[in-house]
Amino acid sequence: MMFSNAIKLFRLGGFDIKLDPSWFLIAGLITWTLSTQYFPLTLPGQTMAAYVTLAVIAMLGFFASLLLHEIAHSVVARRYGVRIKGITLFLFGGVAELESEVPTAKAELWVALAGPAMSVCLAVVFWTVSWLSELTLGAPALTIVLVYLAMINMIIAVFNMVPAFPLDGGRVLRAYLWNRHGDVLRATRIAAQSGTVFGYALMILGVLALFQGAVTAGLWYILIGFFVLAAAKSAFQNQLMQSTFEGKTVRALMIRDPVIASPELTLSAFVNQVMLAERVSFAPVVADGVLIGQIDKDVLSAIDRDNWTSTRVGDVFAGLDVAATIPPDMPIDALLKRIAETGTRKFLVVQDHKLLGVVTLANLIGHLHDTDQSNRRKVW
Ligand SMILES: [Zn+2]
Repeated sequence: MMFSNAIKLFRLGGFDIKLDPSWFLIAGLITWTLSTQYFPLTLPGQTMAAYVTLAVIAMLGFFASLLLHEIAHSVVARRYGVRIKGITLFLFGGVAELESEVPTAKAELWVALAGPAMSVCLAVVFWTVSWLSELTLGAPALTIVLVYLAMINMIIAVFNMVPAFPLDGGRVLRAYLWNRHGDVLRATRIAAQSGTVFGYALMILGVLALFQGAVTAGLWYILIGFFVLAAAKSAFQNQLMQSTFEGKTVRALMIRDPVIASPELTLSAFVNQVMLAERVSFAPVVADGVLIGQIDKDVLSAIDRDNWTSTRVGDVFAGLDVAATIPPDMPIDALLKRIAETGTRKFLVVQDHKLLGVVTLANLIGHLHDTDQSNRRKVW
């Protein structure tokens, strides 16, 4: 998940606490609902200014509680050696951005449970304090805010324990399947399916609420449904990438003995004998066993078709591009980063001026697809 516009607020316990601009929308919505509906109902006869003040205090308490929920996840994750990029509050609550996935099923379980456990503790604390304040102070406004915070923390705990990945309950489910069968990708697939079902269920609930005339609640359910659906999908994609590429180098995934072009070949021979016959869109140019460059569609399209029979590959090929030349021991992670940064999609794998193979983005996507297919066929 990316929060490129998030504002850094402060550091707490070694974590960067950030605010996504979308947070202001939900903060406003909650303050508005509390000041116009919840507090006038539970504490009648006060001024609007009093309601707004109480609403702002309760809203801030709500997000402080969410922050503590995420900090609990982060502290436990950090104990298992996972680095935390930061904790961000946004439209749908809070999220702790882990730099990598947790290392084991056991770690996943404890990281997942830490958040809801914190929320339950907070609920108990707020309830106890509200009870004490009612006994001793007799300040109904304070009691009502505290009761609200106790309730909201209980709701946070219960909602997050729904077994729908990537909610905490879904992570517990994934940890259980992962531990039981030892296959993290398959565990993630099933957990992600639970998230998909829950996402659709929320959207259906939202539509029903719309028909009942509850417009805000209805739209809200639909939005959260979309969010859970997208989050489940992207979490599975990340796991698929990790399972396919983690710890692998270019050497393991490259196409060995690629089709090459000799500089003597005419362009029409290159098109017919290499591009069309071998179904490739580019070819390394090799002379006497030494890699000298490459030729692709872009080079061809710059040459008039009438001249293809009289022009040779050696006259027009593109020289070696540093960005497109990679060593065989380059980790796939680094290659993916290079693709994202430079937009280059075809690479020549070179060692000591010798061509060992080629790697293309399509080739990498093919590996993802293969991992996905073989994992899909596994039965527990
Ligand atoms: Zn959580």
